[in-house]
Amino acid sequence: MLDSAFFHRWTVAVAAAVDREADRLTELDSAIGDADHGSNLRRGFAAVARAQGEEPPGSPGAVLGSAGRKLISTVGGASGPLYGTLLRRTGKALGESAEVSLPAFAAALRAGTDAVAQLGGAAPGDKTMLDALLPAVDALEAAAEQQEDVAAAFRAARDAAESGALATVPLRAHKGRASYLGERSVGHQDPGAASAALLFRTLAETAE
Ligand code: ADP
Ligand code: MG
Ligand code: MG
Repeated sequence: MLDSAFFHRWTVAVAAAVDREADRLTELDSAIGDADHGSNLRRGFAAVARAQGEEPPGSPGAVLGSAGRKLISTVGGASGPLYGTLLRRTGKALGESAEVSLPAFAAALRAGTDAVAQLGGAAPGDKTMLDALLPAVDALEAAAEQQEDVAAAFRAARDAAESGALATVPLRAHKGRASYLGERSVGHQDPGAASAALLFRTLAETAE
């Protein structure tokens, strides 16, 4: 079972990982965007970690909900509302229970990912964060169904997210700023897919 302390540790670890990897994420965004993805997420997750340090929310759903709202209010770029919606909707689906099972978390992340797709209108293969999020959620659901333990399930989700992010390289972007480049977006990894993989890498590390 996953409790609010786990989700609190995850969000704080994401803030640290995003801070460490901000230059790489911005570099990816400089190739096919406006070179701010790393700084956008650094600002957003730093605010999340700060707010939770002041007053850690009570339930897993509340931790993710407040993190999502913080991202929406602090990140100006497209990724703020999208990741904010992911976390807020995932948190909402978790409800108010103090502990969350792996199948419940997988189902909640599915709801969160669906909300990202609805908000941004992107489909799989459009070269967005969804190309890492969707395979990760697929892998998490499969692992939960096979009653894998939490750490193994999160490693499977991480591997799927990382493969999904790398698989955006040959794709042509159909959503977001990168789509303005048309054919010239081919040959670069999508920055949002790279940061989504980072989210799942951090999830696996938090469960170790
Ligand atoms: P901005 O493009 O506003 O500068 P960021 O650089 O922070 O915002 O985030 C860019 C990332 O957001 C992209 O790499 C992509 O993964 C994601 N993104 C952009 N538009 C969409 C969309 N409509 N649906 C899903 N993801 C999107
Ligand atoms: Mg950008
Ligand atoms: Mg921008």
